[in-house]
Amino acid sequence: SGYHKVLEENRKLYNQVQDLKGNIRVYCRVRPFLPGQSSSTSTVGHIDDGNIMIITPSKYGKGHKSFSFNKVFGPFATQEEVFSDTQPLIRSVLDGYNVCIFAYGQTGAGKTYTMSGPEELTEESFGVNYRALNDLFHISKQRKDTFCYEIAVQMIEIYNEQVRDLLTNDGPQKRLGIHNGSQKGLAVPNANLVPVTSTTEVIELMNIGQKNRAVSATAMNDRSSRSHSCLTIHVQGRELASGAIFRGCMHLVDLAGSERVNKSEAKGDRLKEAQHINKSLSALGDVISALAQKSSHIPYRNSKLTQLLQDSLGGQAKTLMFVHISPEVDAISETLSTLKFAERVASVELGASQVNK
Ligand code: ADP
Repeated sequence: SGYHKVLEENRKLYNQVQDLKGNIRVYCRVRPFLPGQSSSTSTVGHIDDGNIMIITPSKYGKGHKSFSFNKVFGPFATQEEVFSDTQPLIRSVLDGYNVCIFAYGQTGAGKTYTMSGPEELTEESFGVNYRALNDLFHISKQRKDTFCYEIAVQMIEIYNEQVRDLLTNDGPQKRLGIHNGSQKGLAVPNANLVPVTSTTEVIELMNIGQKNRAVSATAMNDRSSRSHSCLTIHVQGRELASGAIFRGCMHLVDLAGSERVNKSEAKGDRLKEAQHINKSLSALGDVISALAQKSSHIPYRNSKLTQLLQDSLGGQAKTLMFVHISPEVDAISETLSTLKFAERVASVELGASQVNK
């Protein structure tokens, strides 16, 4: 009946608001074995809602290690399931919040799959980026009697500490500066800001962006990328009754691979890339853990990435880190260092919410 529907809606809303408590969340996602891979040995043991057990093979000192996060998605989790746990966060952008969503992990662990989807996209395989925009379009239509929304996107990459615009047809050669707190709240005011109203437009833009992304093959995975790419969704809302204007923005960041590069193999450009990546990923970890510990100094200025995201990390802003791991035995040392990084990022907030349980 109508009454039950209202109750159900209220309960859902309440749960969503509860879910938004704590501004930093960490979700772990385990990639399945890929077609043709033998799945006889996996380093991933038991998974439940928020815990994951890693089995270390004898070569690495046979044993078990458990890690806790806000949520763990096993290898069979669908794109839709992953998105539905992210949805309340995404919707908060329409209420004027700033949001950052990161995909972290070693190359090949599934970062791009989570954010964009596989190379051959189908509706079921759409990643968080498409689903987020779709959802924002959908909700803004539902609210059209009370609010008027304008949605626009930017897409940039950070490669070797240089910021470039990915939404240009002349290649990503432009180097851009970052201005925090600039007018209109644009962190990269000179990157193209493209208004969007439909998923079709979004797909076209993402294709341009992907083409422009600096990709260089590694031995592990030739789709791997040595750059951070960031899709920023800017939302401007106007309340029709009062005329009040508010803004929210969401950064969806596909980070460069977190693997440590073998020093004997990396020379010249590769070594430089690796150093830049290490520096910016540890700067990101430092900022998030300083925020989680409510430290008085947040070291935003240590990398382009944290400078770019300064207005959206901390304060009222909400942060979600997806950490990705591969189940293969060969990946075990990267898997453990990924999970340790993630625990460092999550520890304080997780500790607090566990006390409340
Ligand atoms: P990364 O961006 O971390 O380098 P990718 O997203 O490119 O990794 O994933 C590597 C490969 O694994 C791709 O072929 C991708 O389609 C596949 N893959 C990753 N995650 C999943 C998943 N959850 N389900 C199915 N295939 C996946």
